Amino acid sequence: MQVTRDTFNDVMVPNYNPADMVPVRGEGSRVWDQHDNEFIDFAGGIAVNVLGHCHPALTQALISQGNKLWHLSNVFTNEPALRLAKKLTDATFADKVYFANSGAEANEAALKLARRFALEMHGTQRSEIIAFKQGFHGRTFFTVTVGGQPAYSDGFGPKPGDILHCEFGNLDMLASMMSDKTCAIMMEPLQGEGGIIVPDPAFVKGVRELCDKHHALLIFDEVQSGMGRTGKLFEYMNLGVRPDILTTAKSLGGGFPIGAMLTTAAIAEHLKPGTHGSTYGGNPLACAVAEAVFDVVNTPQVLDGVAHKEALFREHLNRINAKYHVFEEIRGKGMLLGCALNEQYKGRAKDFMVAATNEGLMCLVAGMNVVRFAPSLVIPDKDIIEGLEKFERGIAGLVAQPVALTK
Ligand SMILES: *Cc1c(COP(=O)(O)O)cnc(C)c1O
Repeated sequence: MQVTRDTFNDVMVPNYNPADMVPVRGEGSRVWDQHDNEFIDFAGGIAVNVLGHCHPALTQALISQGNKLWHLSNVFTNEPALRLAKKLTDATFADKVYFANSGAEANEAALKLARRFALEMHGTQRSEIIAFKQGFHGRTFFTVTVGGQPAYSDGFGPKPGDILHCEFGNLDMLASMMSDKTCAIMMEPLQGEGGIIVPDPAFVKGVRELCDKHHALLIFDEVQSGMGRTGKLFEYMNLGVRPDILTTAKSLGGGFPIGAMLTTAAIAEHLKPGTHGSTYGGNPLACAVAEAVFDVVNTPQVLDGVAHKEALFREHLNRINAKYHVFEEIRGKGMLLGCALNEQYKGRAKDFMVAATNEGLMCLVAGMNVVRFAPSLVIPDKDIIEGLEKFERGIAGLVAQPVALTK
């Protein structure tokens, strides 16, 4: 059967607006489309393909588990899930793991756990969840309402209640919002979708102190920042601030859908049998792939390589900017970088993305003003350099044009 990009418009719900080209295969940080055009991949499936496409260790894990056992449901446990949970708890602050299938589901579990914990420990008045403007936590109705962009949760009827939003970075405002009604604070230790916003470490430490003072739980959403992307297994390790609950997904599966919520034994106790669950969550196929991801990522070779690759990106991006004067700032950490457009190009991030794609580079935006890169942690240096040459050609074409390409 012949399918093209036009087929999308015929048969798919129009909630996405994908690129014109249709990728058909990938290897490492390169991807080929239906017409065999080659692309360098700085998008990484939105911070998912942490080891690029078809990494041999991941393909091997998928095939070998695929020949053994795919799915059981949580009526039975399974070896890959138990091994992955053991590795995640050994490597982090956490004692316990709950597996889900996505970031939103991991966050949904975290929020429900926080509410249940507060109810059982402190009573019914402690139900307020405080999150941050521009934050993103997924698209289920609870998580999207906790997210800090009301446009994403408007228009679906009555929203879940007792959810407040504070300015990201404003500790005084947070202090004034907290009380004995505060159940939990949910935050990204590095905001991704909101525009690659790295908070002041002192702010994050202050949030932890306020949570301790008010007996509120601190939930770190590391769905985008986690699994090595910032050079440590999780960003909380760079910040030196321990959350009570941490969620991860995206890079955890390296391209296979999986999410996880990590917490301490004392908090985990409150999700007693029957309180929460998922049919697929922790299925052997997903956990076998994620275990292979973990084994490769959580090594000095991969984690220590991230800083070098970040430096290479920054060096070339600064050089490009010195020539074309399009960015106000290059920000982010490790393999999660944002090029914030200056005043002259405000609102045109998508034009930059389209111009890059036309030159053979896949990248992302984060809002209207930031071009985002979330490539593989093991992207070869020569792919970084070649990709940035394509990016530069895209920018050269764009600055030569007087009007916007896309609305
Ligand atoms: C992508 C993302 C999510 C949602 O993950 P899904 O797998 O799309 O449900 C949640 N939180 C953060 C920080 C994310 O970047």
